[in-house]
Amino acid sequence: MTTTTTAHTAWCGRGHLCNLDEHRTQPQTWRTRYGSLIASLVQRSHAKTAYLELRIRITIPADEHTARQQAAAIAAGVDSAIRTATAIPVRRRSG
Ligand SMILES: [Zn+2]
Repeated sequence: MTTTTTAHTAWCGRGHLCNLDEHRTQPQTWRTRYGSLIASLVQRSHAKTAYLELRIRITIPADEHTARQQAAAIAAGVDSAIRTATAIPVRRRSG
């Protein structure tokens, strides 16, 4: 197993969460009416940028057509929420 060689961040969960040259928080889980949301903060050992890692479990219909429609709407909504929260504009396609 590779371990990090830099000092831990204040929020690092240490132990098995801190390896492969990354510091990680303990995953935080929220149970929601639609499923669950699991979040971890990650930072490369030698980088100044941190990342938010999200895993989302969402209950959708078993019917494939409806499931595809909801999946597309959910993905678009998540993308929009992230762009709004981070102030990253939508890239316009050329042509
Ligand atoms: Zn660490």
